[in-house]
Amino acid sequence: MKIKKQIISRKEHSISRDAISSNALKVLYRLKDAGYQAYLVGGGVRDLLLGKKPKDFDVATDAHPEEVKGLFRNCRLIGRRFRLAHILYGRDVIEVATFRGPHEGKSPSHADQNKEGRIIRDNVFGSLEEDALRRDFSINALYYNIRDDSIVDFTGGMNDLNHKMLCMIGDVETRYREDPVRMLRAVRFAAKLDFQMDRKTHDLIFELGHLLEDIPVARLFDETIKLFQGGYGLRCFQLLREYQLFELLFPMTEASISASNSHQTLKIIEQALINTDERIAAGKSVNPAFFLAVLLWYPMHEYKNRFIERGEHEMEALLSASREVITRQQAYTSIPKRFSLMMREIWHMQPQLQHPTRKRAMRTLMNRRFRAGYDFLLLRNSIEEVELDALCGWWTEIQTKSKTEQESLCEQLGKGQKKTKRRNKRRRSKPDNQQNKSNKTSIKRSVAQE
Ligand code: ATP
Ligand code: MG
Repeated sequence: MKIKKQIISRKEHSISRDAISSNALKVLYRLKDAGYQAYLVGGGVRDLLLGKKPKDFDVATDAHPEEVKGLFRNCRLIGRRFRLAHILYGRDVIEVATFRGPHEGKSPSHADQNKEGRIIRDNVFGSLEEDALRRDFSINALYYNIRDDSIVDFTGGMNDLNHKMLCMIGDVETRYREDPVRMLRAVRFAAKLDFQMDRKTHDLIFELGHLLEDIPVARLFDETIKLFQGGYGLRCFQLLREYQLFELLFPMTEASISASNSHQTLKIIEQALINTDERIAAGKSVNPAFFLAVLLWYPMHEYKNRFIERGEHEMEALLSASREVITRQQAYTSIPKRFSLMMREIWHMQPQLQHPTRKRAMRTLMNRRFRAGYDFLLLRNSIEEVELDALCGWWTEIQTKSKTEQESLCEQLGKGQKKTKRRNKRRRSKPDNQQNKSNKTSIKRSVAQE
C-alpha cells in the first residue's frame, strides 16, 4: 500500500476542541505535558468529522501502558491479547492505546498468530505511522494531534471519509484473517455511517465469513451487542443477512426465518429493532436480554413443540425448550447469565400474560420483569395472528389503576374463569373442535368484560 503522510491543519478541518469531551482532553493534555505524543484517534475523530456525536473517545500515544499507569491514579491496565490502559472518570472511560508496530521477528510473548493467521497477541509497540497501518479502516486511522490541533492521515482516510467509502487498510485478506471480527466491524460501520465498502473489503466477507467460527464466543457476544444496540440495529441486521454472517452468529434464528411461511420470525425481529433504534435515538435505555429473547423466541417454540410431541406438558416443555435453545446458542455467542435469566423470565411470563387467572394475575403484575414481559406481549401482538388485542388492552389498563382496583380487577377475572369452568363442565360431551371454539371465546369475553 502506498503511504503518503498528509497533515490537515486546524484551518482545513472542522473539529474544534469544544467538541471533544473534557475527560479526553484531560488525558491528552497530561500525556502531552509529560513529554509523550498524544492523539485522539478512531471513532472520536471519524464521528466528529462527520458531524456525529462520538460514542467514546480513544487516545493513542507513544507512552507504554506502565508509563500511562504512572501518570494517572484512575488508570487500570486491561487485556492480554491487546494490552491497553483505561482511564476511569466515573462511568466514562477513556481508552489509551500505545502505538502498535509490525510483528516480524518479534517474540511470541509480544506478537503471536495461530496457524490460520489470526493474531492472538498484539503487544509490539511501534511508531505513529506503524500504528496507523495496523488499524482496520482508513476512516478509523485519522489522528487528531493535541499539540497543534492538526489531523494526521497516512492511509487516505480523509479522502475516503469525504467519499463515504469504507476501505480496509493493507491487504484485505490478510487483515480479515488476522482478525475476522473486522468483518462484523465492516458491516457495523457501513450500517451506521451509510458508507459503501470498496470491492475487496466487500467481496472477501463472503469468502472469509466462516473464519468467525473460531472467534471466542464472548467476543462475538460483545460484537453482537454493538451491532444490535448501537442505534442502527435494523440496518446492521439487514446487512449481516446480506453478507451471510447472521447465520454464523444465530443459526437457529436464521433457520427459523427461512422456514417460516408467515415471516413471523423476520417480522418480530425487524419490529423489535425498529423499536430499539427509536428508543436509542430518544436517549432511552435498552436491555440486550429483551432483544435476545426476541431473536430466539420462535426457535424456542420449535423446540417446545418437539418436547410436547414427546409427551411433556405445555409449561414443562416451555421450560425445557428455553434451557435447550439458550445452551445451543451459547456455542455461537456467549450469553452472560444475567441476560439468559431475564430471557427465560420474559418467555415464562408469556403464558401467564396470555391466560391471566385470578390467582396468578396479581403475582404476574408484581413480577420484577413484568414490564419486559408485557412489552414482549405487545410486540408479539403487533405481528402474530393470534388474537391478543383484548388481553393487551387488559394488561395496559390494569397498570394505570391503584393496588385495590388492580386486586378487584383480578377478582373479577376469577369470576369470569369460574363461569368458564362451569360452562365447560356442562359442555363436556361436545366434540373437541366445538368445545375449543367456545372455550376461546369465553376467555376472550371474560378479559374483554373488564
Ligand atoms: P465506535 O467506538 O463508534 O464503535 P471505533 O472506531 O471507535 O467505533 P473502537 O472499537 O472504539 O471503534 O476502536 C477504536 C479504534 O481502534 C478503531 O477506530 C480502530 O482504529 C482501532 N481498532 C479497533 N478494533 C480493531 C480491530 N479489530 N482491528 C484493527 N483496528 C481496530
Ligand atoms: Mg471508539
